[in-house]
Amino acid sequence: MATDECRLRTEEGVEALLEYCAGRLHAADAVVLESHLAGCAPCREFAAAQQTVWQSLDAWEPAIETQGFQSRLNARLAEDSTPAWKDRLRAWSSGISWKPAIPMAAAFALWAAISAPPRPEIPAQAEQVRPEAVERMLEDVDMLDQLKLNAQ
Ligand SMILES: [Zn+2]
Repeated sequence: MATDECRLRTEEGVEALLEYCAGRLHAADAVVLESHLAGCAPCREFAAAQQTVWQSLDAWEPAIETQGFQSRLNARLAEDSTPAWKDRLRAWSSGISWKPAIPMAAAFALWAAISAPPRPEIPAQAEQVRPEAVERMLEDVDMLDQLKLNAQ
C-alpha cells in the first residue's frame, strides 16, 4: 500500500492500523504505516485512540482480545467453578473491576463503528455448557449478594 494513501479510506487500511496498534503488524509494514501517520492527522488520531484502548485492555488483562472475549467468556462459563473463576466473580461483584471493562466496551463500539462485526465464532466448549455449571455460578452470585447485604 502506498505511503500517502489514507488508511481510513479502505477496510484493509483500517485493519492494518488496528494490527499496528495491537503491535501485530510486520516491521516492514509498520515502517510504511508510520511514515504515513507522520503526515496524516486523521490516521494519527485514530491510531492514538486505538492505542489508548489497547493500553487500557493491557492494564486489565494482557491476553484479552476484543474479538475473542465472548468466546472466552462462554468457555469460562463451561468450566467448573474453579477458585480463579470464583475470585474473579468476587472481584466483579464487589464492583472494583467493572471500571476497566468500560474501555473494552469502547473498543467494541469503536471497532463495530468502522466495520460490521463478524458473527462470533461459537467455540466447541459452548455447546457443552452444562446447566449445573451455570446454576452453580448463579448460586455463587446469589450468595455474594447476600454477603453484601449482610455487610451493610
Ligand atoms: Zn491517513
